[in-house]
Amino acid sequence: MSDARQPLLPGVTLGVLGGGQLGRMWAHAAQRMGYYTAVLDPDAQSPAGWVSHHHIRTDYLDPQGLAQLSSLCQAVTTEFENVPADALAQLAATLPVSPAASAVAIAQDRAREKAHFVQCGVPVAPHAVIDTSEQLAAVPDSLLPGILKTSRMGYDGKGQLRVRTRDELNAGWATLGSVPCVLEKMLPLAAECSVIVARGRDGACVHLPIQRNLHRGGILAVTEVWAGNVSAELAQQAVAAAQAVAEGLSYVGVLCVEFFVLADGALVVNEIAPRPHNSGHYSQDACDVSQFELQVRCMADLPLTQPRQHSPAIMLNLLGDLWFPHALGSEPIEPPWAQVLALPGTHLHLYGKCEARVGRKMGHLNITAATPEQAHRTALQAAVLLGIAPF
Ligand code: ATP
Ligand code: MG
Repeated sequence: MSDARQPLLPGVTLGVLGGGQLGRMWAHAAQRMGYYTAVLDPDAQSPAGWVSHHHIRTDYLDPQGLAQLSSLCQAVTTEFENVPADALAQLAATLPVSPAASAVAIAQDRAREKAHFVQCGVPVAPHAVIDTSEQLAAVPDSLLPGILKTSRMGYDGKGQLRVRTRDELNAGWATLGSVPCVLEKMLPLAAECSVIVARGRDGACVHLPIQRNLHRGGILAVTEVWAGNVSAELAQQAVAAAQAVAEGLSYVGVLCVEFFVLADGALVVNEIAPRPHNSGHYSQDACDVSQFELQVRCMADLPLTQPRQHSPAIMLNLLGDLWFPHALGSEPIEPPWAQVLALPGTHLHLYGKCEARVGRKMGHLNITAATPEQAHRTALQAAVLLGIAPF
């Protein structure tokens, strides 16, 4: 594809593989800018399918579904990394696809992802690739205690086991089905953060401010974003590392790079997501350009300008657990939205999922305020109303 491609202007149809909440919020952003949208997702009840002009309900590799998508659309993106990279590669034969199948294929595989980080010169956790029982036996003691992660298809802490001893490691690999895994040394985390970059076909690269993330049970719970949420030096290092990772992939699109901050202040890259990310949702209400608009701009070859955060922000993830304040297994109860929205600076985003389930991402609440202290106070009040533990 030439670097000098003309932008795809509003009025044409843009497509996405995947019908989850990220696709839904992408569709909202694209539609706001005057684009038509098409979603390919086999599920008739998908959050993005509900809101899109077109919903193609076939499997991701269905030749007819892919043909329909490519005849409807002028460009295609993806909203989750486990979409078969092959589907992207097939679409790329007839229309611009971002990110490229090759970049998504790397993000789908922890072992390849780690190798890419090393190649880019960014620090990674000490780790070993375990594809075979010989590699399992050869794991050095120095990686224990560690976290055993399947190389593929993991998300929200799924496909991961904490292992303290060699016996637990051996048993853990069997539990995970003896599939290809990566064992990572358990690191003393002082904090977690992430950076979202958007890179155009011409190599222009912009980023959102660094996000400070709190995970609970392997799932993102809270994101806090304001100047000073981490030290300026750390923020600079993280942005530079994220840009190097994107550059190294010749990446086109929105990319999230997740980091660990260690107890000694060192920064380590954890993983990448080749798409907008849960930790970037605050940008919808706190930045002049959201991560979803960045995704639209990238795929349409529109200019990328450096986003500006205009308000300190906190994002609270709304998991299905909140629908069961009394006892799990009881009838779901709708959380007290009116009381939450009575708090100034609260912005509710729900994904239209029919059924609340424990651990399921149902929506998020963005809180904006004039100061970080005020954002924090309001977020804590909202957390009390919603039954989210304080932070
Ligand atoms: P997602 O894709 O939803 O971000 P995931 O399932 O891919 O999550 P990871 O990001 O690898 O999983 O890990 C989930 C969480 O587990 C991390 O955010 C961190 O809190 C913890 N964790 C992962 N690896 C390590 C490690 N090496 N040392 C300490 N904690 C870790
Ligand atoms: Mg993660």
